[in-house]
Order: sequence, then C-alpha cells, then structure tokens
Amino acid sequence: MSRSRIIRCAACAGRIRPQHPHIGVENLETGEEFSYHARPDCQKRCAEETFTRLEAGKVYAMHHYHSSTCPDESPGFGCRGGCFDTPMAVAN
Ligand SMILES: [Zn+2]
Ligand SMILES: [Zn+2]
Repeated sequence: MSRSRIIRCAACAGRIRPQHPHIGVENLETGEEFSYHARPDCQKRCAEETFTRLEAGKVYAMHHYHSSTCPDESPGFGCRGGCFDTPMAVAN
C-alpha cells in the first residue's frame, strides 16, 4: 500500500492533499466516499449535497480529516490546528 490514491473534491473537482484538512462523506451501504475541501465554499456544497442525498433515503457518515500537522490528538471543531475554522463551524 505504498501508492496513495488521488482524492478529488466533489464540489470543485480540485485535488485534495491527504495531509490537508478535508471532509469525507461515506455511503454506509456501498463504502463509497465523497471528499470535499475544508474551505467554506466546498463545505457549503458538501452540506447541500449531503442533505440532498439524505433526502433520497441514503445513509451517510461524515468524517472530518484534520491536517497532518494538527496538534490535537482527537481533534474536533475548533481544534488548535484551525482545520475547520470557518463561519460554518462557529455558527450555533
Ligand atoms: Zn473543493
Ligand atoms: Zn485539526
């Protein structure tokens, strides 16, 4: 497993570097995973598209992958690495 697969953002089709923070939306039935950049535009698309898929009756799990340099051991929103520090993340 030396070759890492290329991840592309489902919102902007840009490449996502695995060591950078990103979001994965996994279809729990098929194991297929959609990836999105952590930046606000792509996060917004992610939220909209996930909502549409959920409405279609599919079951998804959302994963937040933090930056490889994130200092928190079990990071969440508002981590010290600032991976997902966006207006979306600070809204109640
Ligand atoms: Zn993107
Ligand atoms: Zn982080």
